[in-house]
Amino acid sequence: MTISCQLHEARRLEALNKLNLLDTPPSEAFDRITRMAARLFNLPIAAVSLTDADRQWFKSRVGVEHTSIPRQGAPCGEVADGSHILVVPDLLQDEFFRDTPLAASGIRYYAGAPLTTVDGHCLGAMCVLGTEPRETTQAELDMLSDLAAMVMAQIEMQHALGRIDPLSGLPNRNQFIEDFQDMQRDRPADEQRLAVLINLATPDQLAHAARALNPSFLDEMVVDAAAWIRAEAGARRKVYHVAANQFALISEAGVEMADYLPALEEKMEHAISVSKLRFVITPSIGVAPFDVGTADGLSVLRQAQNAAHDAIDSATRVAVYSAMEDGLYRRRFNLLNDFAAALISRDQLRLVYQPRIDIASGECIGAEALLRWNHPTLGPIGPGEFIPLIERSGLAQATTAWVLSRALRQQQAWRAAGLRLQLSLNVSAANLLEPDLADRVVAELEQYGLPPECLELEITESAIMEQPAKATAMLEALAGTGVHLAIDDFGTGYSSLSYLQRMPANVVKIDQSFILGLEDDYRQQGLVRTMIAMSQDLGHRVVAEGVERGDVLAFLRSAGCDEAQGYLFARPLEVEAFGIWCRESSGWGDAVAASVPRRDPRALCSLARPKASLAASRRRHQAR
Ligand code: C2E
Ligand code: MG
Ligand code: MG
Repeated sequence: MTISCQLHEARRLEALNKLNLLDTPPSEAFDRITRMAARLFNLPIAAVSLTDADRQWFKSRVGVEHTSIPRQGAPCGEVADGSHILVVPDLLQDEFFRDTPLAASGIRYYAGAPLTTVDGHCLGAMCVLGTEPRETTQAELDMLSDLAAMVMAQIEMQHALGRIDPLSGLPNRNQFIEDFQDMQRDRPADEQRLAVLINLATPDQLAHAARALNPSFLDEMVVDAAAWIRAEAGARRKVYHVAANQFALISEAGVEMADYLPALEEKMEHAISVSKLRFVITPSIGVAPFDVGTADGLSVLRQAQNAAHDAIDSATRVAVYSAMEDGLYRRRFNLLNDFAAALISRDQLRLVYQPRIDIASGECIGAEALLRWNHPTLGPIGPGEFIPLIERSGLAQATTAWVLSRALRQQQAWRAAGLRLQLSLNVSAANLLEPDLADRVVAELEQYGLPPECLELEITESAIMEQPAKATAMLEALAGTGVHLAIDDFGTGYSSLSYLQRMPANVVKIDQSFILGLEDDYRQQGLVRTMIAMSQDLGHRVVAEGVERGDVLAFLRSAGCDEAQGYLFARPLEVEAFGIWCRESSGWGDAVAASVPRRDPRALCSLARPKASLAASRRRHQAR
């Protein structure tokens, strides 16, 4: 075979494979044509025979047992090679076919018409076969050609069905991927192009529109947008309808981003200004640059989609793909997925405990349980990274259930060992919307035989403010069970004083951002003093978070703050370390209290230092 023949054959096979017809189940649409062929020729055998690399595979067949025969020596293979009608009146008289297995099987007559695509590739033959020699009239040949054309129409229609979006009439994502691969074959590997993705509306806008308008609104939006995008893209640029409300196109080679982006912005602005939907939707455009040789169509599409999503918040509503943003997004997505596995794993999650100190007595009177995650491949992941992801997902309920059960089991063990502490744990906004939260807390307490007042639930101010009415109702239900409640990170949210006043909370925890750096910020000291006084006036006990220094503790003491939590006393500790810390540091608070004279807090200077041996023992047990 010459090189050009080989190339021709490779292209032909590629065209055949693209149609995804080989080895598919029988289909009545084809069988109907095959039966008609057998009847019109009054012959026992007819087939739609596709020429694969080394076999003739029958998409449809009448009077044949096999689904395929070897290509070598098969007349249909000849038809595919030559792309012309082949008639063999008597195989036994034919020089070429006389000794073929087909002739040996008793077949004498063959007529086949080529199955040719619009691009001119011959896929195989529509053929009829007989066991007697036979002549063929011109009318019969014309008929066979017509039947072959009907088969091709059927093949191409089926193919188009999976390639064209019925609403917009534009090629869909499958076609985008296929054309992308073609481009990779045809174009130089180092050619640079831009994938452009137009997102018609934000998910919120779609949801609002779906609620307010008829379902046909979406269809109208797509049809309208398809028209303007096509008009803006011009006749030479193929526009793809890649997702329900997204369109994509590939730039020409060698366009400069610096020129291209302003042109895109201008086009979009114009399109929107004339669109009848301009008041309901906010289209955005994402651009992903890529190298033709190394890119992969689906990834490029995803990158352009990400950029279009980022563009929603940009002034021009056009954004270029950023690998860094994408990396972060993917990390967050993977972490969330992996956290679901962590929840059912045996050893990835654990709780650490940070002491809470009564400032007046210096005694440790409580502990906050804090979640820790050791990811199997990424190592320790901080709650600051994974908790916000969980809180936005459906995993918040399972996470809190896990923490509640572990923490209460620990509380039971401590109480059995004679350690009396109030145990706090953190609850997410989503937990407050679970109608059975209070019941589940009570059930868990009963299971471990614990009184409700030994448990405190910390809820951030912002969690309450997400849905104040529902959250307050749940807090009241929880308070009714006897469990204590604390408002966490106080001062960072936007809660109004009227809410604070109505909140059935026992404790307010002033956020560490107000406490860190307090030692030399007089205005902040004034603020904290007011927060303490106000919270206490409303009947709450006040805890300062993030106490790292003795002078800050002295200030808090003078300001009348009730409790302190922070690295000055201990970092969050592993269970055993917490036990040791409690034993070794008893009376520690007295030392601090004694070493810090009550004085004007604006003259903060001397640091309260714990006894050296205790400081060393704390350092040994601190857990990150
Ligand atoms: P949070 O509830 O306000 O917990 C206090 C955070 O401050 C903890 O961070 C603690 O390690 C840190 N911290 C304590 N003392 C000091 C100090 O003196 N200086 C400084 N710089 N930091 C201090 P962590 O453990 O990283 O937790 C961060 C946040 O993650 C928590 O803030 C809480 O909102 C959330 N979180 C942790 N565990 C859980 C959990 O089990 N469930 C839920 N829903 N959230 C949790
Ligand atoms: Mg907390
Ligand atoms: Mg806090």
